[in-house]
Amino acid sequence: MTTSAQLFATAKTLIPGGVNSPVRACKSVGCDPLFIARAAGSKLFTVDGDELVDFVMSWGPMLLGHAHPGVTEAARAAMLDGASYGAPCPAEVAMAQAVVDAVPGIEMVRMVNSGTEATMSALRLARGVTGKDAVIKFEGCYHGHGDAFLTAAGSGVATFGIPGTPGVPEGTVRHTLTVPYNDLDGVAALFAAHDDIAAVIVEPVAGNMGLVLPKPGFLQGLRELTTRHGALLIFDEVITGFRLAYGGAQSVFGIDPDLTCLGKIIGGGFPVGAYGGKRRFMERISPEGDIYQAGTLSGNPVAMAAGLATLAALAQADYAWLAARTESFASTLAGILADKGLPVVRNRIASIFTLFFTESPVTDFATAKTADSARYARFYAHMRARGVNLAPSGFECAFTSFAHTDADLEKTLDAAKAFAG
Ligand SMILES: *Cc1c(COP(=O)(O)O)cnc(C)c1O
Repeated sequence: MTTSAQLFATAKTLIPGGVNSPVRACKSVGCDPLFIARAAGSKLFTVDGDELVDFVMSWGPMLLGHAHPGVTEAARAAMLDGASYGAPCPAEVAMAQAVVDAVPGIEMVRMVNSGTEATMSALRLARGVTGKDAVIKFEGCYHGHGDAFLTAAGSGVATFGIPGTPGVPEGTVRHTLTVPYNDLDGVAALFAAHDDIAAVIVEPVAGNMGLVLPKPGFLQGLRELTTRHGALLIFDEVITGFRLAYGGAQSVFGIDPDLTCLGKIIGGGFPVGAYGGKRRFMERISPEGDIYQAGTLSGNPVAMAAGLATLAALAQADYAWLAARTESFASTLAGILADKGLPVVRNRIASIFTLFFTESPVTDFATAKTADSARYARFYAHMRARGVNLAPSGFECAFTSFAHTDADLEKTLDAAKAFAG
């Protein structure tokens, strides 16, 4: 029995499913998880001594690579001065300045501890400032595990949310309206039918049903509809922020959202999220305004130091180089699979891609679901056995980093060449 297997067996007696976040259990690919002893650059090292080229990168945060020396040193130095004060510290001001300077739509920002907290707080703010309750979200988009966002889409084009999990009251998701991603007409229809819509929340590039790109005009259309109907446009840039570009997806697509949610990369691997936006809205947050939101560990000095070091390195980074490198790699990988006669659709932007085992273009959740999950599970297991760590679900993204070497990419392509299908 491997050490990973032993740890997992013990973990399952102590932690639900043996993991602290469900997808890590690797259930949807029919494998047991590998336990990680350490990580460096593009590599994970398991407790059993195996080395894997990593394309999960902690689900996105590690754009500079694992254990980046500058980030590690900044966090270490900060920790020597105490891990948390419960009082303001200079790094919070520096972090707010860095975020405001980087992200065009953010004039003021509040730090929180996760992406989930960021989206929950942004929705509360949108409801507070508009005095309305409903929110439009898109099928297949993920905004963390706040109750309002845990809806299952019903049938039909535009549906009321129904609870996506036991424990979420119907009364909560009654206010969540769900439409397919890229369906601007569906959004317009919801606005025509409801006068209580506080916000539209969207991943400007969707990364939680695999990678799905916005169609031309989709984001602009959301901007126009929300403005016309007095609703706020919330960009959930927890994945795309500082990854698509230093200024996030909004800087790439030239859209000015009212509120923006950040997470993942801005913590440099520490538990951090943030929400920010127009000053006139953010000034409504407590204690300046009347809308409550708080956090004992928010703006934590160690996390701020790691985040600041991450942003400082990214401000100098060559995003175009990594995008071109990722495109060449992803297209070669897709070509290897296509040459075997496998149906492969490749969606890619910047340093993110998904290969869907399907014939049809993937533009929303319905088309993403046409992908062959059983084949993906075989591909995952095949690659993992050859030292390549892909996301343990076909509905996730592959992330490259500035630390991935030519040898890493070669090794990955070689492993794929041996895949039987
Ligand atoms: C990961 C993610 C979240 C949730 O962030 P957590 O830190 O896991 O709470 C929210 N929105 C998007 C788009 C995400 O990818």
